[in-house]
Amino acid sequence: MSEGTAKKEEKPRKFQAIRGTRDLLPPETALWNRVEQTAHEIFMTFGFGEIRLPIFEQTELFARSIGAETDVVSKEMYTFGEQDLSRLNSIHHALSSRLSEGSYLSIIPWFEAFVREVEFAIKEDHILQPLPNGVTIEELRKFLASCMDYANRPINELEENEKERQIGLIRAYLQLLETEKLFTLRPEATASVCRAYIEHGMQSLPQPVKLYYMGPMFRRERPQKGRYRQFYQIGAEVLGGSDAPAIDAEVIEMVMTFFDRLELQGVQLDINSIGCRECRPKYVELLRAELFKVKDKLGPDSQRRIETNPLRVLDSKLESEQPIIAKLPRVADHLCEDCAKHYAAVKHQLEMRGVLYRENWRLVRGLDYYMRTTFEITAQGLGSQNAVCGGGRYDGLVELLGGPPTKGIGFAIGEDRLILSLQESGKGPVQQGRDVYIAWMGERAQATAVRAAKDLRKAGFSVELPPVEQKFGKALGQADKLGAKYALILGDNEVSEGLWTLKKLADGSQAKFTEPDLLDHLRKSKPVSS
Ligand code: AMP
Repeated sequence: MSEGTAKKEEKPRKFQAIRGTRDLLPPETALWNRVEQTAHEIFMTFGFGEIRLPIFEQTELFARSIGAETDVVSKEMYTFGEQDLSRLNSIHHALSSRLSEGSYLSIIPWFEAFVREVEFAIKEDHILQPLPNGVTIEELRKFLASCMDYANRPINELEENEKERQIGLIRAYLQLLETEKLFTLRPEATASVCRAYIEHGMQSLPQPVKLYYMGPMFRRERPQKGRYRQFYQIGAEVLGGSDAPAIDAEVIEMVMTFFDRLELQGVQLDINSIGCRECRPKYVELLRAELFKVKDKLGPDSQRRIETNPLRVLDSKLESEQPIIAKLPRVADHLCEDCAKHYAAVKHQLEMRGVLYRENWRLVRGLDYYMRTTFEITAQGLGSQNAVCGGGRYDGLVELLGGPPTKGIGFAIGEDRLILSLQESGKGPVQQGRDVYIAWMGERAQATAVRAAKDLRKAGFSVELPPVEQKFGKALGQADKLGAKYALILGDNEVSEGLWTLKKLADGSQAKFTEPDLLDHLRKSKPVSS
């Protein structure tokens, strides 16, 4: 069989979006835009500014902030290496294995190749200056020259020692220049916002700094309704300044105002305080001890969590565990004095703002860095994945990432779920039809139609201008299918008379207008901003 026939018989492969990811299509995207536009507007009124963050960061940033024990870090991150360094990495590898064999003369050429490759990688921007740990390429070169110097001298006892020392140094350099950096698609954005706060010295701005973001996040979770592997969050963070309870309350008030503006249905705000570095560890130990006593009655997930993260047991939805959990000690009874005061004041501040809440002592957040105030908002129509927003205070996070001690509080809204809930309650957009379909016939009419389309679009109308001439009957059928409100009929007569025919498709009525009158008439019949 010739190559040609083989190709003919092969069916072209069909591609599909990867499981857990999806396309968002019109008209649904109109709702996404409305939600995002509303977020911009509401957050602006609370004095927040937008931050746009990279979609991938160093793996270490998430591992350190979110916590190695969490599901997100241990199972769900999309992590990848820097492809451009594959050549450098293979030399690195070859050199490392020769180092363990220990023959000096066979090491030197590999070390030389390694230095050359590092130089190349820097030149090509594959690794950025300065090298990790501040090693400069000059230092590497100097060191290589001294190696060569030694390699060319006759061998004697003393130089053997010297060679061993040099091999040790090469080994140390290799470790320093560990080339394989790992990156991760962001599973959330709080760590990135804190990284940016530190990197741009935002602690010298007036405090607190109030930022919001929106965009895709990535977690390798089991996909189901309301749970995706690429999903979207809209979030905000308040960094720096004090931990005044009014800040917590205002952040919550802002989300509730946003949901209210969107007319989200069945909104329920749950709040809790999970204590601080002083009181939480003591409570966690108490909880762990109590859980050990009932270990046999718990499911495998909760049993594992007794060791790794006992607070997460409180999250359990397993029916059989509910009566056991109900008897566990409650965090509110074990807060230190400062935390108890803070929690009471947050509640008072919420009341002052007319924000309705429910206290939920079992509300703990999945991520390690939270402390004191935590909150979650659920909405209607989402089944078991009904949390649309999670948030809380995380005062130690910026410091954990190498910044100054900084207070912090924020939230993340699951935009996919928010949209789903709006759609379920009938708040989704209807298919947006065109305002005007221009049915033109004849070359002269096309030039007029192009001009008319330009003017109508400039005035804010949605216009469909067919690219080729159509019989009027067909054009009107097409206009109907597209849900157009009007058909503007432009034939030879209309063009020569300067009187254009406008047909209202709903009732078939039609009238003739001069060009300026037509625009006026349409403007009056439809407010442009809608
Ligand atoms: P978290 O960052 O885990 O606190 O989540 C904050 C919010 O993001 C949740 O309340 C959900 O609404 C949403 N969310 C988290 N994970 C997913 C996911 N895999 N798919 C869709 N939405 C999610």
